[in-house]
Amino acid sequence: MANKHLGNLFILSAPSGAGKSSLYKALLAEDSNVRISVSHTTRAPRDGEQDGREYFFTNVDHFLDMIADEAFFEHAQVFDNYYGTSKQAIFDMLEQGLDVILEIDWQGARQIREQYPDAIGIFILPPSIEALESRLRGRGTDSDEVIARRMSKAVDEISHYDEYDFVIVNDEFDEAFAQLCSIFTAMRSKSVVMKEKHTNLINDLLSL
Ligand code: 5GP
Repeated sequence: MANKHLGNLFILSAPSGAGKSSLYKALLAEDSNVRISVSHTTRAPRDGEQDGREYFFTNVDHFLDMIADEAFFEHAQVFDNYYGTSKQAIFDMLEQGLDVILEIDWQGARQIREQYPDAIGIFILPPSIEALESRLRGRGTDSDEVIARRMSKAVDEISHYDEYDFVIVNDEFDEAFAQLCSIFTAMRSKSVVMKEKHTNLINDLLSL
C-alpha cells in the first residue's frame, strides 16, 4: 500500500440517475491532474459503452478469480452484478501525483475508508425524487421493472449520504460543478499535501 503519495483519493457516490457522471466528466475535461478509476464489472455493456473506458467488462468466473488473487481494493455486488476497483492502477496514479476518483457505491466506499482513511468522500444527491425518476427514465435503456428496482436501490444508496465528507445537491449543473471543483481545490491545499508537494520551498523558507 502506498503511504507517501502526492495525489488525493476521492470517492464519488450517488444513486444512479443523480447526474454523477456528467459532473466527473466535466471535471476530467477541465482538470488534467484528475483521473477516474476504471472499475471491473460483470454487467453487460450499455449502448455506447466501451471496454476499458467506462468499465473493464468481464465474466463472473474471471471476477471471482480476481477476488481470490486479492486484485481488488474493494468490490461489491450491486443489483445482480459484481463491481470492483483493482489496486495497482490506483496506487500508480496516486504516486504520480494524480488525483484519482473512484466512482463506487456506499459498500465500496466503506471498504476504501477502512483501508485508506485519507480518502475523501463526496456524495451527490438529486434535487428531488421526481427528478431522480425522470433522469432514470430519460436514459431510455432499461425496462420499467429495472427502473423500479433502481428507484428502491437509489433510496437505499441515499440513506448512506452522511458517511461522506461532502454532499452536493445536483440541481443546477453549473452550481454543483463549481462546488465539486472547490472541494478538489480545498483538498489539494491541505497542509499534509502541501508539505510533500512543496518540500523544497518549505525547507527553504524554514532555513533562515
Ligand atoms: P452502473 O451499472 O449504473 O454503471 O453502476 C451501478 C452502481 O455501481 C453505481 O452505484 C456505481 O457507483 C457502482 N459502481 C461502479 N463501479 C463500482 C466499483 O468498482 N465498486 C463498487 N463498490 N461500486 C461500483
